Amino acid sequence: MPLRSRLGRRLWLNIRGIPPRGKYTIARRLLQAVVLGLFATQLLVSGAIIEGSLASSRVFRSIPMMDVFAWLEQAAATRSPTLESVIAVLVVFALYSVLGRFFCGWVCPMDLLFSLFERRLSSPRASPLTRPHSAGPIEKAIPLVMIVAYLGLSVVLGQPFFTTVSPVAGATKLGSILVGVLYNIPGATIGLAMAWATITGFALIVNIVAEYVFGVKRFWCRFICPIGGIYGYVMNRYSPFRVKVADVEKCRGCNLCSMACPVSIDLMEYIHAGRDVTDYRCFKCGRCIEACPHDVLRLGFSLRRTSNQKGN
Ligand code: SF4
Ligand code: SF4
Repeated sequence: MPLRSRLGRRLWLNIRGIPPRGKYTIARRLLQAVVLGLFATQLLVSGAIIEGSLASSRVFRSIPMMDVFAWLEQAAATRSPTLESVIAVLVVFALYSVLGRFFCGWVCPMDLLFSLFERRLSSPRASPLTRPHSAGPIEKAIPLVMIVAYLGLSVVLGQPFFTTVSPVAGATKLGSILVGVLYNIPGATIGLAMAWATITGFALIVNIVAEYVFGVKRFWCRFICPIGGIYGYVMNRYSPFRVKVADVEKCRGCNLCSMACPVSIDLMEYIHAGRDVTDYRCFKCGRCIEACPHDVLRLGFSLRRTSNQKGN
């Protein structure tokens, strides 16, 4: 990295207390805005590019897509998944088998919302769940318990539980209903918009309270939301798209990467071991890469687990 750019980054960090945003944040925000915009305007455009919500949608009126957890809940509730839903979930499964937990950092509108209120850097002296750390067995087990509980509730209630009240799909529905209200489209009502706004606001408040009162970053994503949980637990294990240690010799041990991570991953552990980041919490946001003044990390495709060779 050129000296001037490194100095600029240091200056920004000192003035703002956060590392500067970079190309990954800009690209993520653009993609999130495009996805939200496409869902929001679906009622206005005949032959919309995307129809439905982030739980279940149809792209170009022909490619069905269904979120993996939404499908599991539907299958648990109805016990007779349709062929179309199987095709739809396989499309999404294949996509995130390649990209891992990419959905959470690049597509989900809640990431956009949560990031507006989150503290940017973790202090190494902060609470155990806030400072960068490897997740212990209890922390890892909680999202799995939640997933099983949601599926159990879906069986008992006979309808998908989390999907019905999910703020993730809700935020996209809220956008399209608001546009519908604005253009007097039948079925789009203020009451419906208020209902989805309440659900989305609830998730936001839970997340803010957890972070500002109890010091737990991204509580909703790490412990409550099963959508990201499935992508993290299953796909992050083998997906080739991941954060790689590009050049371990450049690392000065400043730990800025870990402190910038929104889900408190201890990047130093991976850097020292020269391993790619396969942590179930990683949603490929690239903040660790943007925070590093020495270009130690990269985001890209790799089939190998280790990547510590110089200039790799
Ligand atoms: S964990 Fe859930 S709410 Fe959080 S970013 Fe992922 S899908 Fe969105
Ligand atoms: S490890 Fe890096 S890419 Fe993964 S969530 Fe943390 S900051 Fe984002």
